[in-house]
Amino acid sequence: MSYRAEYIWIDGTEPTALLRSKTKIIADGEEPGIWGFDGSSTNQAPGNNSDCVLQPVYVCHDPVRGGDNVLVMNEVLLPDMSPHPSNTRRACAEVAEKYAKHEPWFGIEQEYTFLSDGRPLGWPISGYPGPQGPYYCGVGSDEIWGREVVEAHTTACLDAGIAISGTNAEVMMGQWEFQVGPVGPLEVSDQLWVARWLLYRVGEEFDIVATLDPKPIAGDWNGAGAHTNFSTKSMRESYEPIVKGAEALGKNHDEHITNYGAGVDLRLTGLHETAPWTDYSYGVSDRGASVRIPWQTARDQKGYLEDRRPNANMDPYVVTRLITNTVCEALDN
Ligand code: ADP
Ligand code: MN
Ligand code: MN
Ligand code: MN
Repeated sequence: MSYRAEYIWIDGTEPTALLRSKTKIIADGEEPGIWGFDGSSTNQAPGNNSDCVLQPVYVCHDPVRGGDNVLVMNEVLLPDMSPHPSNTRRACAEVAEKYAKHEPWFGIEQEYTFLSDGRPLGWPISGYPGPQGPYYCGVGSDEIWGREVVEAHTTACLDAGIAISGTNAEVMMGQWEFQVGPVGPLEVSDQLWVARWLLYRVGEEFDIVATLDPKPIAGDWNGAGAHTNFSTKSMRESYEPIVKGAEALGKNHDEHITNYGAGVDLRLTGLHETAPWTDYSYGVSDRGASVRIPWQTARDQKGYLEDRRPNANMDPYVVTRLITNTVCEALDN
């Protein structure tokens, strides 16, 4: 029987790209091949030269439709098969290949906020809920909103074969997190984009919106980040490369911070477990530093480091490329 392939791609909307998808019916026994779309409707092409190409790069089981149906993550190409300017995956693939001998691993903590009727889920129609404190990893209907969506999303990720490694309720009411990894830079990025698509798609079933807005509510409310945990083979075996990596990230702070998601300055204020976006710092167990070395890593004298700077709305192809490049280049010198 024919099956459905949901072709997913990243559009050209600025400053933060949106996910798009459409369905292709594929004959029994055939594989999802290249396809196309109207780039003039996605901020990727002018109307008089509108064709863009979809190149499948990651295929997994479709947990929403079930059966033989699949989800297909794509790179966007120009009609001459060169990468589209909005295609950030290609450069990530080149860096991943260049430094493959370091065996880089990433675990990304994706924070997000559920919205309903335009306000965070569970929030009163006017005013604010009680101040932050009880919501993080809370339990009970007075503190937790949207758990049914979280559970459905987690099940979907597991069914799809995504390397989801955990979930938790976050500090702001209505805010949550899931983690993907640790796996390689391209793998974590492809899977995180598909996991984001699944979050929005599963949300449709509940009529609940998920947003990656890095600071959904101004004031004394936590923003949403995408802490990016990183290790190389040598970091998993000894401590010195971890310190070297943390130092190297400091030398390239400006290039990293300007590519860590739109509105990073709104979130990295120095309050709410963040370091100010204008400064770089690192420290053991320090959730007020740009980069944290977890206490287990310091105790074991091996492990990984956590870059706490990326926003929830960051592009993982960009962030994993920058971290791999900066740290592995330093380790080679
Ligand atoms: P936090 O304490 O900061 O909330 P989490 O448990 O949410 O940490 O996320 C930690 C992430 O780091 C997980 O995705 C985990 O898989 C990942 N991780 C664990 N070990 C490594 C490693 N050696 N290299 C990269 N990532 C790792
Ligand atoms: Mn976490
Ligand atoms: Mn978190
Ligand atoms: Mn973290």
